Amino acid sequence: MSNYKLIDSHVNFGHELLANKSKEIIKESVENEIIGMLCVNSNLSEFSKDLSIVNDYETIDITIGQHPNYVDEMPINDMKTILDSNLKDNSKIVAVGETGLDFYYNANKTKQIESLEAHFEMASQYEKAVLIHMRDSEEEIFPILDRYRSRVPQILIHCFTGSDEFANKCMDLDCYYSISGIITFKNAEKLRNTIKKLPIDRIIFETDSPYLTPDPHRGKTNYPKYLKLILEKYCEILSINTKEMATRSNDNYNKLFSKNN
Ligand SMILES: [Zn+2]
Repeated sequence: MSNYKLIDSHVNFGHELLANKSKEIIKESVENEIIGMLCVNSNLSEFSKDLSIVNDYETIDITIGQHPNYVDEMPINDMKTILDSNLKDNSKIVAVGETGLDFYYNANKTKQIESLEAHFEMASQYEKAVLIHMRDSEEEIFPILDRYRSRVPQILIHCFTGSDEFANKCMDLDCYYSISGIITFKNAEKLRNTIKKLPIDRIIFETDSPYLTPDPHRGKTNYPKYLKLILEKYCEILSINTKEMATRSNDNYNKLFSKNN
């Protein structure tokens, strides 16, 4: 067993691979010294389901948002209504998202942008951080992040895979970054170089379970217990101490979401 405790800042508990055995996964995570988790909602019509999975666990936070790949499933006004009614009276929600822009599948760009802006508006109103998912959209997303930055407490770029240039621009906005298992992949040399430049006091770690399983388990289902493989790889890249970085990233997580414990 490792000598450090970690928080997994992105678990898709609503995913069918995790939802039915969430109790075992949470138990196993705790046994592997995962002291906190963030359950990420990516489909507003499933928010209540996601919440019911984690509601009894004090150490699990939750987000609320419509993933850019699902924007066609719901009118923007319905998204706003669901965001509003839940953000109003649920202190377990620490962030709005995941929202963002994903142009990999060439989906509805206009609606993705509208949805992202709607999420920012709600986050601004309820003073929540925004959890950003992005893929093939650096050019389009940056002006939006820039425009809303001062209106929300924080922006988290989840599963950071950006270019050097994009990293530099995000640093000007003082964003947070969550680092995923992608940094353990053989072909991620460029990314490993880029993340060296990101400020350590803005780094948190995520598994994105059940996706993005780190090496050497790549290809299998991902679980929060594998988070340490990501931390260890990050520390190897930066030549820093794992235990210190674990503590630091937990502090970063708490600061990002304005938690005191
Ligand atoms: Zn994502």
